Formats: sequence, structure tokens, C-alpha cells
Amino acid sequence: MNTVQPSAIRDLLALGADPAITSFGGGYPDATLFPRAALEGIFRDLLRDPSGDPLQYAPSDGLPRLRAQIAALMTQDGTPCAAEDVLILQGSQQGLDFAARMFVNPGDVIIVEDPTFLGALIAFAPSQPRYAAIPVDGDGMDIDALEATLAATPQARMLYTVPDFQNPTGVTLSLPRRHRLIDLANRHDLIVIEDTPYRHIRFAGDTLPTLKSLDTQGRVIHLGSFSKILVPALRLGWAVAAPHLLEKMGLLKVAADTQTSTLNMAAASLFLDRHDLAAHIATLRTAYRHKKEVMLDAIRHHFPQEVTVTDPEGGLFTWARFPEGFDATAFMRDHALPEARVAYVPGGTFFATTPRPNHARINFSAPSEDRIRAGIKALGHCLKTHL
Ligand code: PMP
Repeated sequence: MNTVQPSAIRDLLALGADPAITSFGGGYPDATLFPRAALEGIFRDLLRDPSGDPLQYAPSDGLPRLRAQIAALMTQDGTPCAAEDVLILQGSQQGLDFAARMFVNPGDVIIVEDPTFLGALIAFAPSQPRYAAIPVDGDGMDIDALEATLAATPQARMLYTVPDFQNPTGVTLSLPRRHRLIDLANRHDLIVIEDTPYRHIRFAGDTLPTLKSLDTQGRVIHLGSFSKILVPALRLGWAVAAPHLLEKMGLLKVAADTQTSTLNMAAASLFLDRHDLAAHIATLRTAYRHKKEVMLDAIRHHFPQEVTVTDPEGGLFTWARFPEGFDATAFMRDHALPEARVAYVPGGTFFATTPRPNHARINFSAPSEDRIRAGIKALGHCLKTHL
């Protein structure tokens, strides 16, 4: 544990919780879109259930009905699977923890995108990995660079990727690259962790096949989540994987927490029975598409020309690149927070090997439209004053 340290920007981000600060920092969904009335009725009915089952222990792999419902969702999405291929997790974050425990010994190499999801680095840290970080461009992970890295790093065991609307950059792995990634994983005997919490929040372009659906050798562990399509507080995610891998993961599940909350699993299951998840997702897509447009419009108007941002086809984030030499952490501490009253996540923290401080992750899902407009205007003014 001596090697496991808190993120250096934790204290800075805590300042973003001040209501006077407009926070583009978190990865929170828009709370006004939570299906509160539906959940209120569901929880009331579950608590009144005469059997008491929703308050009882449940199988460690998850409620059978919910596993079947998730398998049906996955199958509809082009990744055919059955209930027994699904392990319910306490958020997809738990799958990241389990993956590292299953496949990574101290010093083993994990291949990640450069930049990658900070929460994955936090989950992997106790396993003491080394990293090979692969550059990302507008089409996701650079597969030529991956090929070269694998040739030079034969001991690599596990590859972690967020192929749809990546956190933090918002970019999506293109179809040809998905095929090449699977091909390389087969040639180099890699386990692939496919993390897809944003997959259904697509507001432009066509859905691409999951890596799991392209995997013929059982080497992809697919992680899904209800956090962005229902509510994060349920802490419900899932893994879909080959039986021998899922069985081992199931052992870690028993060790970690026995099972995911019965009440929360039952609530999600009843939501899927009673309500149209696809219609709810359609509402989310429309709302987030609009917020993304409001944010990018404001950025175009107010940011200095030399700052570039990604235009994601889905998800919750855009990724800003500032001129070389710009330190987004220092700028937030010295200017963005005290002068513009705005927070973002300084980008350096998302790089597994060499931090590049001239980046920031900017969230458009959580703040209201008015706060997006006002906050981006203030941040733009602040950037123009100091750049
Ligand atoms: N993976 C990625 C890429 C994420 O961005 C997040 C959360 N924002 C998670 C996993 C964890 O999500 P969950 O709430 O399902 O644990």
C-alpha cells in the first residue's frame, strides 16, 4: 500500500463542490434527468413486497432475472449472450478492480490509452503494474503504435480500453481499428478489458460493434454499467465474459462483498419490466447532444483560437488541448477557480506514464445550460487574459 497514493489533484477538485463554482470537473449525469418518479414507485413496491425477498440476501452472481434482462440488452446491442454469461457487479468500477487482481502481478505490463480513465489507474494501482501507454487520436487508440508496442513488450498481459466516447477524450475507436485490436490481442495472447459506460449515450454517427462481439477466442471481458443510463447511485454494473473467466471473477465477487445490493438489483430489474429503457436513453441522448452543442458553441465563441477541443459523438466529456507549456493544474488553482469560479479536471492526471499538463477534461452533462454558457464565457475570458 505504500505505493498507493491519493491523486495529487484531489484537494483541488474538492473545491469544485462549492456551489459558487461552476464545475465542469465531475463525470456526473444530469440529475434533472433521473427517472425519480419511476424509482419512487419501484422502491415503494419492493419494500412492501410481502415475501421480503428484495431485502434478503441474493445469489452472489446477481439476481437471475436481472442477469437475463442484461443478457437480453446485450444481445439486442449485437453482443449475443445468455444470463449465465453475465456477472452483476457493484458498478463497472468493481470489474476494473477484479480484472487487475485476476491478471496482473507486480511489474506486469498493462496496455492503456494515453490518456486513460483515472478510475482505472486507481483500481489497477494496488496490483503494482507497469504501463505501456498508447497514443489516442480522433479514431481512438493508435493501432500502429499498439502493434509496435506489443512487438517490443512481449510480456504485456492485459489491455484496457474505453472504445466508445472515451473518458477523458470523448473519442471512439473506429471499426477497422476494432478489428485490428482483436487481431493483435489474438496474436499476442492478451486479455482485453472493454469498458463501456457511455456506449448508449451516442448522439451522432452509427453504433459500432462491441469488441466482445468481435472476439472469437473468449479473451474480451466486457464491462457495462447502469450508472449513465439509469442512476449511478444504484451502483450497478456487469461483466460479460467467457465461462472460465467469469467463474474466477465470481470468486472475487464473493470475497469482495458477497453480492451486489439485492434491493438495487431488484429495482433495476423492475425498472426494465415496467419502463421503456430505450425511450429513457433516447431522452438522455437528445439532452446531452444539446448540452454538448451549447458547450462547443460557447467554446468557439469565447476560448482563444489556440485552444482545441474534441467534438465527441457521445458521452459526457470534451477534451481540451492548450498550447505547449500551459499547466492546467496551476491555471485552475491560480486563475480558473479564484477568478472565473470554474473547475475542470486538469488533464495531467489521466496519463499513466508521462503526464501532459496542457490538457483538461471538461464535462457538459452535469451543469445546466445557463451555467455552461456563463462558465465557459468566464473561463474563456480568463484564458484570454493570461495565455
Ligand atoms: N469506466 C469509466 C470509463 C468511467 O468513466 C466510469 C465512471 N465514470 C466507470 C468505469 C465506473 O462506473 P460505475 O459507476 O459503473 O462504477
